[in-house]
Amino acid sequence: MNVRCPHCQKIFEANQQQEHLLTYAIGKGQRLVMLECPECYWDVPLNPGDLLSNEPQKDEASEKETIAGPVNCPKCADGIMSYINDGNEEFWGCGECGYTRT
Ligand SMILES: [Zn+2]
Ligand SMILES: [Zn+2]
Repeated sequence: MNVRCPHCQKIFEANQQQEHLLTYAIGKGQRLVMLECPECYWDVPLNPGDLLSNEPQKDEASEKETIAGPVNCPKCADGIMSYINDGNEEFWGCGECGYTRT
């Protein structure tokens, strides 16, 4: 199972644990899974239905995102804050510098 890391854009093969997680997420119809990329060691939000997407997955159902729209990162000013909901935690994160806030 090949996955593109939306952070470093490298394609890597999901390890057994990740593949298990993805298979489970696909089966459940989840729209977002957090995986650690073995190339850049970032936890990246992925769309289980589109594993080779160049874009980090966002939770489109998020009301917060609809209201706030794309927000520039207050720390590096280059990145855009993305709303992330991995099932346990909800937060905003910058894909450029890794800044997060809840
Ligand atoms: Zn990566
Ligand atoms: Zn940033």
